[in-house]
Amino acid sequence: MEQKQTIENAIIVGGGTAGWLAAAMLSSYCPEINFKVIEPIDSKIIGVGEGSWPSLTKELMALQINPEALGITMKIGVEYLDWGGQEEILSNRYFHPFLLRKPIRRIGISSSHSIEWQNFNHYWTVNHPYDIWKQAASKKKARSLGVHVNTQRLAWALKARALLNENCKLLSATVKKVNVENNNIISVETESGSVVTGDYWIDATGFKKILASNLKIEEQDFSDRIKVDTAITVNVQSEEENNAAWTQALAMPAGWAWKIATKGNISYGYVYSSKYTSDRKARKLLKEISNTKIKPHKIKWKPKIVTKPYQPNCTLVGLSCGFLEPLEAMSSQMMMKNIKITVKLLKQKAKSHQAFEEIQQKANERWLPWVNKAAAYIAFHYAVSKREGKFWQDYRDFANEYEEMLEIAQLAAFRKHEDALFKGAPFSVASWQVVLAGAEAVR
Ligand SMILES: Cc1cc2nc3c(=O)[nH]c(=O)nc-3n(C[C@H](O)[C@H](O)[C@H](O)COP(=O)(O)OP(=O)(O)OC[C@H]3O[C@@H](n4cnc5c(N)ncnc54)[C@H](O)[C@@H]3O)c2cc1C
Repeated sequence: MEQKQTIENAIIVGGGTAGWLAAAMLSSYCPEINFKVIEPIDSKIIGVGEGSWPSLTKELMALQINPEALGITMKIGVEYLDWGGQEEILSNRYFHPFLLRKPIRRIGISSSHSIEWQNFNHYWTVNHPYDIWKQAASKKKARSLGVHVNTQRLAWALKARALLNENCKLLSATVKKVNVENNNIISVETESGSVVTGDYWIDATGFKKILASNLKIEEQDFSDRIKVDTAITVNVQSEEENNAAWTQALAMPAGWAWKIATKGNISYGYVYSSKYTSDRKARKLLKEISNTKIKPHKIKWKPKIVTKPYQPNCTLVGLSCGFLEPLEAMSSQMMMKNIKITVKLLKQKAKSHQAFEEIQQKANERWLPWVNKAAAYIAFHYAVSKREGKFWQDYRDFANEYEEMLEIAQLAAFRKHEDALFKGAPFSVASWQVVLAGAEAVR
């Protein structure tokens, strides 16, 4: 069957953060297209308190979503605790701030710490976190900051925003069959027996990949460089807000643990490799950190990413596109990237099918190199640590052979930030330097 040259109806399947963010953005930026979101009545989403990149903050502001109603806290960066593994290092912590755009000139553990803490400490010591948003927003600084957000509340807010647009409708249903011809999705059938047709599709069904699993997709397996594959999480109600302005990432025997505070709630999670520890041991450690008896929720995944998120008439958005691990919150960045490119694709399709295909091809070609650089950066955090234990030692042994990571790390150490390896990469030379400095790998 020939592909239709214009797009009148686009269908988004899945009502998690990815589905509703796609719905809110696409229906706002492509008003000429009608969107339908298929969301199960008993929709279950990956709902952990999460940290995002500034790109999500910018978009929430553009969509005029009120952050206070969401219990959002600002995220000025990530505090890494115990990653060095050397007790003599300045309290064994370092900070990766978002506002650090330019490479550090004089790199060294003490200088980088003082620069960072001086610049960013006042955001939370002087102000109440919720005033920061207002203050920062009024100064247009919020655009450079990320947010901590409860995923479920974010999905609800995005849903409310998307459904304000007349060209976005909800269909409460569960997809049970996907009809495909020549790798093009023609229609889906729901459990209640209705058939939904569409010209373009968004797979936002999370790890289930309901649409994508019917297409000819390939995935790259990252388990050599991304060793964690399991997370256990708990949410604890709390009025504690001291640490609300950044994510804490605490190094652990077989991975790391997060602490993320949103308004009235703290999310704890231990992200670990199932090869190096047991669920029982992990639960014990999480209990100690979180100081709660609440039974944690367990999530398991294979660190794999789809090689081409832009299929002939479908984009894979969110977890359906794959997942590495939560360190450095790459998922929200991937999600945003894929939605933005889809906006471009849908707009272009109305003008020229050839241009649409060109954008699609280019975006697919650039995708994997970009993801590989993100994976290299994530692996780098573990590789430069001097922590003891088999998990950490194995990471270092592997990293000695991981050429792309070594190459970029070397450039970062010598501040060769003009190099093509950093062009269009998800993390700047300054971000690499922060990790190098934090682990006292350079002075
Ligand atoms: C442990 C962990 C920690 C994370 N931490 C972070 C972080 O700090 N920062 C960050 O940016 N990201 C993080 N992420 C990723 C983030 O959670 C996701 O990118 C984000 O929530 C988007 O999820 P999603 O909407 O793709 O999938 P989900 O939330 O799983 O939503 C899937 C939707 O599809 C629907 N669905 C499923 N089957 C069907 C069907 N047959 N028919 C119709 N609909 C269907 C479901 O009901 C649901 O509505 C983390 C992920 C994990 C696993």
